[in-house]
Amino acid sequence: MGGARRQTDPLSPDAVAASGDGAYPDVMARLAIELPHHRYDVLIEPGSLDRLGEAVRARAPHAECALFCDGAVAGTLGVRAQSALERAGYRVTVGRLEPGEQWKTLDAVRDLYDVLLGARLERRAPVIALGGGVTGDTVGFAAATYLRGVPFVQCPTTLLAMVDSSVGGKVGVNVPQGKNLVGAFHQPVVVVVDPLALTTLPTRELRCGLAECIKHGAIRDAGLLDFIEREHASLLACDPDALTELVQRNVAIKAAVVMADERESGVRAHLNFGHTFAHAIEATVGYGELLHGEAVGLGMIAASVLARRLGVCGDEVPRRLRELVASVGLPTVASLPSDERLLEAMSLDKKVAGGRLRFVLPIASGAC
Ligand code: NAD
Repeated sequence: MGGARRQTDPLSPDAVAASGDGAYPDVMARLAIELPHHRYDVLIEPGSLDRLGEAVRARAPHAECALFCDGAVAGTLGVRAQSALERAGYRVTVGRLEPGEQWKTLDAVRDLYDVLLGARLERRAPVIALGGGVTGDTVGFAAATYLRGVPFVQCPTTLLAMVDSSVGGKVGVNVPQGKNLVGAFHQPVVVVVDPLALTTLPTRELRCGLAECIKHGAIRDAGLLDFIEREHASLLACDPDALTELVQRNVAIKAAVVMADERESGVRAHLNFGHTFAHAIEATVGYGELLHGEAVGLGMIAASVLARRLGVCGDEVPRRLRELVASVGLPTVASLPSDERLLEAMSLDKKVAGGRLRFVLPIASGAC
């Protein structure tokens, strides 16, 4: 990707106006999310974790803050984040979350309230989530509700969280009745993305994040599909330049969609491409068997085959998607249950509207 590197300190909000940020595809290290009632920056830079404190202080100055880390990164990235916050003058209360989707619960949120109340954290003190989407969603929900809402900072450490869940303000937890059924919209004050955090992420998780990147390309940007086709080997090898460009391009797409439709009443639904199939596949094959990103890869292939059968797109769309999904090492075939069971599972999807199934379908590579 072309584009001059920043001239100004990307961590200072004063630099934003001068940076010409937000322009796509000429993406800088900073993207501004402009919403009707809130604006915030997504800072994307290798090594930015060590400047987390400056970035937070510029937007949520206070004597105290709370840092909640996914247990898988607490001893490594968590220690660095804590010292960056301390260098910026914060007294840091640190908490650790059990890794895994099974801990994205109201009980976990209650534990976070206990830590926050124990530290007597005040309403203007920032709460920082360091981890994947599970950590961001859970900590974000605590931040949205503790004292009726405190400043929230996302510091994503999985590819999925960097390109998807950390941007857009959706936070929440699972309940026994279903996933993500309790939550809120609570936009962060800043998102600090250090692509180098991905070097310790298990490859299977990296691939799952790539499924969401392919989704962004498929719905909005054929150039991004070209990029993943060209760079898939460097991406899987965690080449820092390739990962940084990948994250920047994807955040630009997520940002544009969120800015057009903050509350998911219109185009934000395009982000569900492949997900109606994916949720049905996960529900019938059994959660845990396939990871979510793997089901999304299969779901996108299925949705594009449906689009071709309906005459909405040509043969090249499902063919290219299948090849892309395979190129990043995601499964393209799975032993699935009968069509009847899949359809039944789809009818229980929470995106069903007025009793009718709705699908996001590609009309060409990069458009839906
Ligand atoms: P995750 O948070 O469970 O992380 C995946 C695994 O990677 C975990 O085991 C975690 O401990 C580990 N991990 C995280 N960072 C690591 C690192 N740098 N090195 C080594 N290990 C690391 O899963 P995820 O895929 O990041 O997020 C999935 C969640 O995101 C789901 O709960 C989903 O509902 C949610 N989500 C939310 C939104 C939103 O808009 N809020 C969007 C998409 C998905």
